Amino acid sequence: MKKVAVLGATGSIGGNTLDVIARHPERFRATVLTAHRQVEALAELCVRHRPDLAVIADPALEAELSRRLAAAGVRCEVASGQAALAAAAASELCDTVVAAIVGAAGLDSTLAAARAGKRLLLANKEAIVMAGPLLLEAVAAGGGALIPVDSEHNALFQCLPAQCLPGQPDLRAGGVRRLILTASGGPFRGHTRAQLANITPDQACKHPNWVMGRKISVDSATLMNKGLEVIEAHHLFAAPADAIEVVVHPQSLVHSLVEYVDGSVLAQLGNPDMRTAIGHALAWPERVETGVAPLNLAACAPLAFEAPDLVTFRCLALAFQALRAGGDAPAVLNAANEIAVEAFLAGALPFLSIADVVEAVLAELPAQAVVDIPTLCERDRVAREAARRVLRNAC
Ligand code: NAD
Ligand code: MG
Repeated sequence: MKKVAVLGATGSIGGNTLDVIARHPERFRATVLTAHRQVEALAELCVRHRPDLAVIADPALEAELSRRLAAAGVRCEVASGQAALAAAAASELCDTVVAAIVGAAGLDSTLAAARAGKRLLLANKEAIVMAGPLLLEAVAAGGGALIPVDSEHNALFQCLPAQCLPGQPDLRAGGVRRLILTASGGPFRGHTRAQLANITPDQACKHPNWVMGRKISVDSATLMNKGLEVIEAHHLFAAPADAIEVVVHPQSLVHSLVEYVDGSVLAQLGNPDMRTAIGHALAWPERVETGVAPLNLAACAPLAFEAPDLVTFRCLALAFQALRAGGDAPAVLNAANEIAVEAFLAGALPFLSIADVVEAVLAELPAQAVVDIPTLCERDRVAREAARRVLRNAC
């Protein structure tokens, strides 16, 4: 029986994870559930899944969570605050941790799970973008395993040989020439810059193939999501920037591909439903049923592939720039993007200006070597401050 902590249980990945877990009560149990401020949703999940511990990140809501659980007759421990999240991820209550908090807010708990040697199912891509080498070191030191849940990286994981899996030193040792990440192109594929000038948050969050949280939905619309994923692939699979290619594939059926030196290209396909990647990561190296509909290839339109438009969708180009700059540039890119997306979602920044904010902050804070987590967190704070200054000056 695997004891699973679902960090970010009230989110899109959290919900899909709990769906897969509930299908296999003999294999998996959700022992820890966490949320930021959605106290009602968290309490409901506790009624359904009966965890041993529920953590609400906002301490002001702990009493309300306790009250709701008591009223529903649910007996589980309750805790609150960021430190409690990390403690839960490292605790004996779980052997598997699904890191599904969005943004840099998930870094601490992801690291804590890695250091404690848990099986780490990583959805929180911002954590590995920020702290790639340090996170991989923590996984190695803890003696656990890192299995990517991001669908592209999970696809690559499935197509790569053992000597190329996370933590190995060189992708080419496995005879791999390139990693090819597919991108749906988001809701604005084919649009011109002029057409993107007045995009609203609701338009940006309406993804053609996936239902996801609002931050990643905006990232998908700007293609920053693919940029973060390029950096994620670089760290996970020790792939140089030149060995990572992005191809737009609007149907989101081919989740990514691995090209070998002999010309073979292996791909992982499936319907666009995150439960495939989540179920794979939960059960690996075994396989479990996930509720995902079988792929009916004959009913699919012809599969299309095209090059990304880096001029209109500048965020992808900026992510490659940050990856090539190295050091903490990806952490700076990520912090500036989080602030810009927040401002866009609040109606305070035009869609096209997200890239402008990121570019300005990258120019202001040239890459420095990554030393340790406290230095990195300080850099994250400085980059957020710089982004807020750019925003104030732009408005
Ligand atoms: P979401 O917004 O739906 O859910 C986020 C979860 O994190 C919620 O449970 C929320 O309560 C919690 N949270 C948010 N801020 C927090 C904070 N400051 N402290 C503690 N908890 C906090 O997001 P999502 O779409 O589920 O995405 C989660 C992560 O998975 C992101 O990093 C995203 O990039 C990645 N991811 C998502 C998908 C997808 O299909 N949704 C696919 C691949 C990767
Ligand atoms: Mg993805």
